[in-house]
Amino acid sequence: MNLFRVGRFRPEPALGQFLAWMAGAALTLSASAEELTRYSFERAAMGVPFRLTFYATDQALAQSASDAAFDHVATLNSILSDYEPESELSRLSRTAGSGKTIPVSQALWQVLESSQKLAEQSGGAFDITIGPIVDVWRRARRQRALPGERVLGIARHRAGFRHLELLPSEKSVRLLRSSMRLDLGGIAKGYVAGEAVAFLRARGISRALAAASGDIVAGDPPPGTRGWRIALATLASPHPEQPAVSGQVLALANAAVSTSGDTYQYVEIEGVRYSHIIDPRTGDAIRERRLVTVVAPDGVTADGLDTAASVLGISAGLELIENTPGASARFQHIVEGEVSTSHTSRWPTLPWE
Ligand code: AMP
Ligand code: MG
Repeated sequence: MNLFRVGRFRPEPALGQFLAWMAGAALTLSASAEELTRYSFERAAMGVPFRLTFYATDQALAQSASDAAFDHVATLNSILSDYEPESELSRLSRTAGSGKTIPVSQALWQVLESSQKLAEQSGGAFDITIGPIVDVWRRARRQRALPGERVLGIARHRAGFRHLELLPSEKSVRLLRSSMRLDLGGIAKGYVAGEAVAFLRARGISRALAAASGDIVAGDPPPGTRGWRIALATLASPHPEQPAVSGQVLALANAAVSTSGDTYQYVEIEGVRYSHIIDPRTGDAIRERRLVTVVAPDGVTADGLDTAASVLGISAGLELIENTPGASARFQHIVEGEVSTSHTSRWPTLPWE
């Protein structure tokens, strides 16, 4: 979905050079004041158009950094994907109910640990064991028919974050019930976007932005600016199925922004619109039109919170984000055909353009 404006595929001229003023001394050229050019690359990854935009000194370096970063993204996807049957996540899901404790990679451990923490904090509104229930609703979407009570009941029995046991001392995991299935769709893209920015930074490219559709992570800002310009999407009325640009533009640096909503992924059955986001506490798909945008210090936090707040709704959702250090959010929903917008107390103090 949505959201940010950057050049497409072609290098753009450098925005400027940096001069560093050394206190008490003459004007000095900073060591990092070389000529930087903006590059943008896009590939399909994690089921979305995944874009990397960054500043580098030349085309050859940019191309090789982009290739390596996209390889890294592909590796992470082969760990975290619930679509790929041989991903580490899918193999872990297949051990459900076996009683086995499975050691996992650092990447999977980090996402599982963040997810379980958020499950606790959100009172179970965010829950990565939701896989079986998501499957039921995906089938409903294909068949355009609501799932039956019995089918949903069975799926609900196979879900529940308390049946996912993490053993920190050995970074291993046990899925306590049989036929459990983990789904990281609500949190993995933000994590991987953050890892892509960190990967580029480790190669000396610090002015970078990674965008996995609506999950965006920014590193250092473009030269001479406060941050990356990110135009936020908004719910639009009276045609709420069409996302629009809100006119609000963030200047984001060393932070993340994620947007969650049902603009593209929903099914309409008998005039009711069912989102791809599920309330794990009931097994029901969210029916209210909601769009949540979260700004947080890192991608995994922003992405997890946007999904959690979409489930919790305006009051509990904003409270959860208010209580998360460094996080702020805007929440939109439709009330009597009109868009209603609320935000956390820190939202207006974000670096707006
Ligand atoms: P997002 O766009 O970040 O809100 O993620 C939506 C995706 O998260 C869905 O397509 C599901 O794969 C997954 N999901 C749906 N409901 C939940 C939930 N309550 N907790 C965690 N993940 C969920
Ligand atoms: Mg999310």
